[in-house]
Amino acid sequence: MTTISKAIACHVRLRPSHPNDGKTNPGSIKISGNSIEALNKEGDKRYHFDLDKCHGQTISQEEVFDSVRSTIEQAYNGQNTTIFTYGVTGSGKTHTMQGSREDPGIIPRTVQAIFRKRSALRSSTLSIAFSYVSEPQKRDIRMSAEGLNIIPDLMVQPINSVTEFEVIYDAAAKTRKTASTKLNSTSSRSHAILTLYLHILENNNPSKRKCGKICLTDLAGSENNNLTGNDKERMRESSAINTSLTTLGKVVDALNLNAERGNRDSAGVFVPYRESKLTRLLQDALGGSSQGLLICCLAPGEKFARDTINTLQFAKKSKSVENRLLVADNSQRRASAPLPRAIKPINANAAFK
Ligand code: ADP
Ligand code: MG
Repeated sequence: MTTISKAIACHVRLRPSHPNDGKTNPGSIKISGNSIEALNKEGDKRYHFDLDKCHGQTISQEEVFDSVRSTIEQAYNGQNTTIFTYGVTGSGKTHTMQGSREDPGIIPRTVQAIFRKRSALRSSTLSIAFSYVSEPQKRDIRMSAEGLNIIPDLMVQPINSVTEFEVIYDAAAKTRKTASTKLNSTSSRSHAILTLYLHILENNNPSKRKCGKICLTDLAGSENNNLTGNDKERMRESSAINTSLTTLGKVVDALNLNAERGNRDSAGVFVPYRESKLTRLLQDALGGSSQGLLICCLAPGEKFARDTINTLQFAKKSKSVENRLLVADNSQRRASAPLPRAIKPINANAAFK
């Protein structure tokens, strides 16, 4: 694959099988290097995607963190960065982003890495603070004097140690909205944005100040509403969630197109940040000179086949990524069989409406 400058890199992580996955065909998702192939539900079409990184089922939390480390480290140079986990409920988004005490994910590993960096610094001082937003779609957003989208009453909490972070963050994260759906009893019904603010001051030159920001975003589940048996309130909620995910997709598309054309300033393709609160809040961490990284989480199990293809369609959101449709070798089927409905050309945006 040719390397083309992209504003948002796309990684994939396939989680290990779980008894709740139901029927699983081990050959339905195949990873080879940084390519992935997924079989549709009917078993007669294979979709091929070349992405920036494809993690298989045996990848550890540490290896996942190693693959995002360079994105995070850009914040030490005063840049804004953002990492998202995207996928259907139960695909491993929260595991990847948050993890557990025994098997920590990107958030705790990032905080540890920042404090390690702080200890290693000799000629400068690093101060660290964080904010946490869940359900951004319900927050009041204003434009600041500097032209940034801000939540006026957002609390930015300075932190002095990993332990201090854990205590305050655990309390904040408990407020995150979850509701049970058929897919997962602790399904997350809201996006959660953790932002780490880094201020680096050169000790002998206080006028030289670098400010970097790292947004670690665990997105709400991208599932199809029909699958989850949602009631009216859930449907309304899902529709707001899906609008923000659709807009995120459009923003990713536009940013990558601009980056490919070597155009990271305002003269490129219009980037529709304003169409959702999620993308408004992430505006300064997406685009400009910042680097974004999307980790698309996949679940094995035949019932997820359609979500897998939708998620991969979302992941390949860049004209630079090749997308080929391969016909699986399936001699059981008549060659002239009509295309089943589920594999009619999928437009990721339409699928999420
Ligand atoms: P999501 O946030 O996408 O809804 P979760 O992260 O909550 O999904 O994952 C669903 C379940 O699968 C959880 O019990 C989680 O611990 C488990 N899980 C997800 N990914 C992995 C993984 N890579 N290794 C082991 N368990 C995983
Ligand atoms: Mg989750």
